[in-house]
Amino acid sequence: MYKDLNTSERTQMTPGPVEVEPRVLRAMCTPILGQFDPDFTAIMNETMAMIRAVFQTENRWAFPIDGTSRAGIEAVLCSIVEPGDKVFIPIYGRFGHLLVEIAERYGAEVVSIETEWGNVFEPETVIQEIKKVKPKIVAMVHGETSTGCMQPLKAIGEACRELDVLFVVDAVATLGGTAVKVDEWKIDAAIGGTQKCLSVPSGMAPITFNSRVEKLLLERKKIEQGLVEPGKAKNNQSRMIRSNYFDLSQLMDYWGPARLNHHTEATSMIYALREGLRIVLEEGLEERFARHALHEKALMQGITAMGLELYGNPECKLPVVTAITIPAGLDGESVRKMLLEDFYLEIASSFGPLKGKIWRIGSMGYSCRQKNILTVLGALEAVLIRHGAKVYAGKAVQAALDVYQAAKAK
Ligand SMILES: *Cc1c(COP(=O)(O)O)cnc(C)c1O
Repeated sequence: MYKDLNTSERTQMTPGPVEVEPRVLRAMCTPILGQFDPDFTAIMNETMAMIRAVFQTENRWAFPIDGTSRAGIEAVLCSIVEPGDKVFIPIYGRFGHLLVEIAERYGAEVVSIETEWGNVFEPETVIQEIKKVKPKIVAMVHGETSTGCMQPLKAIGEACRELDVLFVVDAVATLGGTAVKVDEWKIDAAIGGTQKCLSVPSGMAPITFNSRVEKLLLERKKIEQGLVEPGKAKNNQSRMIRSNYFDLSQLMDYWGPARLNHHTEATSMIYALREGLRIVLEEGLEERFARHALHEKALMQGITAMGLELYGNPECKLPVVTAITIPAGLDGESVRKMLLEDFYLEIASSFGPLKGKIWRIGSMGYSCRQKNILTVLGALEAVLIRHGAKVYAGKAVQAALDVYQAAKAK
């Protein structure tokens, strides 16, 4: 009655989900093992080691949360945030608002500031606010996929450490595409994504956290188990981590040597993530970041050569997402529809105040390659001409080819 699954072949140029590495898809066909099988726990340990490597950290704790990236964000925030905690969140796009929403749901008293979309914060502005607000936690997005901007984090991380504030970073969009230096930037907990620059399907979120976070989690766990000093437990009941599924203290016992049962591991996703991480490390982090930067350059040159305008402050551009201002009078959704229907190619629009104002082209992971960049430029030019837009015809692909030829000549 229902036909065989037969999806059309797409060129995925959105900021996620992106095209999955063929090796990852093959790894997902590996037979299932139980999560206490020594063969499988060895695979879990290897996955942890590779997550550490991509986050550039020595943290003991680095493992995936089962669920999409926001499950990783939720696990970190619900395990750290206690009702009444002051959490400071500087917002510069849609995903900053997501941090606010999740922190508030777990009882945080959120203080936020927001800057104009298409820009990021001067680190000094954020640091001054942290000194004023005196929060327990600062949560920030590293790469805002909604606007195509990237926030420099090092100075903010250093200030947080000095002021003994926990620094939580959403690195979902950046992990594996551009540097995310957890230890050097003094990030206490970071969340990555699979379906962005790691080129693994959606459904898992690699996270890492350091001993400062671990200490807090262990304190909260003692209370949960009634192991606090007599008389103190009752007042402290409210400190219990409110989620079972996302309780990082329980997940530490599941991923650590105790191997206490928690959930049934998402076996096929671990296979996928392990293979995706292996590919990243085989390519080399620096080489991978350089590849993303090269294709970003070719894409930007092509876009501007056809006469389109890039959106956002170029000084804080996110290297893996290119936002383009939709020319006045043009129906951006009609352009996207034609790209999909006639070229089997998907690019993204945006949210909230940017809805209908910009297109976003992702150049992430396996999608980030010459064939795709040239295809998206050629297709976009053709579709724009069909829509009667004024473009410099024939320039875009040539400009990108110039970038590639110059890189080859080096
Ligand atoms: C994609 C994305 C998320 C959400 O990821 P899901 O996998 O859809 O839950 C969160 N933060 C940022 C910066 C993202 O780009």
